Amino acid sequence: MSKFRTVRGMRDFLPEQARTMRYIENLARELAKLYGFKEVITPVVESYDLLAAKSGEEIRQRMYAFKDLGGRKVALRPEFTASIARLVATTLRNEPKPLRLFCAGSLYRYDEPQLGRYREFWQSNFELIGSKNPEADAEILTLTNDLMERLGLKNYWFKVGHMGILRGILGEEGVKEEDQNLIMQRFDKKLWEEGLKILEKLKVSRKCLETIKNLMKIHGTKIEDVLGKVKEKVKDYEVSVSAVENLEEILNLTFESGVKFEVSIEPAFARGLEYYTGIIFEVFTPELEIALSGGGRYDKLIELFGGEPTPAVGVAHGIDRIMLAMEKQKIKPKLPEKPLVVIIPIEEDLKSKALELAIQLRKKGVCTEVEVMRRTATRALQDADRRGATHTVLVAPKELKEGKVVLRDMQLREQKAVDLEKLPNEILDE
Ligand code: AMP
Repeated sequence: MSKFRTVRGMRDFLPEQARTMRYIENLARELAKLYGFKEVITPVVESYDLLAAKSGEEIRQRMYAFKDLGGRKVALRPEFTASIARLVATTLRNEPKPLRLFCAGSLYRYDEPQLGRYREFWQSNFELIGSKNPEADAEILTLTNDLMERLGLKNYWFKVGHMGILRGILGEEGVKEEDQNLIMQRFDKKLWEEGLKILEKLKVSRKCLETIKNLMKIHGTKIEDVLGKVKEKVKDYEVSVSAVENLEEILNLTFESGVKFEVSIEPAFARGLEYYTGIIFEVFTPELEIALSGGGRYDKLIELFGGEPTPAVGVAHGIDRIMLAMEKQKIKPKLPEKPLVVIIPIEEDLKSKALELAIQLRKKGVCTEVEVMRRTATRALQDADRRGATHTVLVAPKELKEGKVVLRDMQLREQKAVDLEKLPNEILDE
């Protein structure tokens, strides 16, 4: 046995899983095209300062950070948004808005490995940059729902909130941004009591504490109903009221367009990433406690990186977790069934003919393998069967003399001699 194995938190994806991962990624890529998002590829290694600026304490402490050989403080990206915001603040600075950008790839966080939480994981990421309007938020929600639908996921729901609700209250109370961030991190992890304790230490007013406690109790699926209650609770906090109104407008706009999905509106919902300023949301399925996707509006980040003030909204879909949810819901990727051909030379001096035939079939787009183990025809046929070949082609001297090979249908277990030039069509026409 080799002493080498994967590093803790890192995984190999074997063919079936790799296929599912790529299927999800490609579906997201197709969706990007449909919605006008252009793909960009950004580096896995970025400057530590860029990644640390607004990622939040949780992620900051879990970054794979190191000095490169040139002494630069760098880190493996823990998320995509910082890289995209950097692009928009620099190279894409003068591009006409809106910008719709898509990217997909691996991310790194030194999280405690557990079901659905890995140290290397994969996301497809969409950012709509340059619009502050609710229709941009609605597009991101719609697109996320579209992906879930196309994947065939069932019974999923969107947990929805708005950063402006809590921040509006805390801002009015004079709580500094760093302290607000600390509180948001606790709330993000559902450590409600810890969050409230910080507030008490900061000596916020009774009214503030009561309002936040009340908000924690409110959640529901009916937009008017829930947001009506929230508005009533935060009526003395102007910024919070407009946050509620903004959320209401986004959700109404989304559903007026005819899109249908379940929402759970939670006004005390917070996300650990510090850059969110508006709507925030996550997607859940009943089978998993962890979110499949997460997103929201971040209107100040690009400016913070030295760009023009540029509002933006985006979402990241966790490909690993989507795969988990598909497994739990017994959903298989919808991949086209294509023939797989194995070419078996019956005699050693027919090897080159077998290779030549394989080249011809591949030119026609037929997936083709050649028997390379020099096994007997019987053994090679058994192996082809085991590996799911739909057809085998036996290259034998007698048939070859007449310009033919033997084509075997592995499912029907029937075989016939076929003219060499008709072989691709015989396979493809079935
Ligand atoms: P975030 O960047 O934290 O908003 O996360 C967005 C999505 O990425 C989550 O909803 C997850 O699907 C996925 N994700 C985040 N962290 C991990 C992780 N450690 N392992 C697997 N997926 C993750």
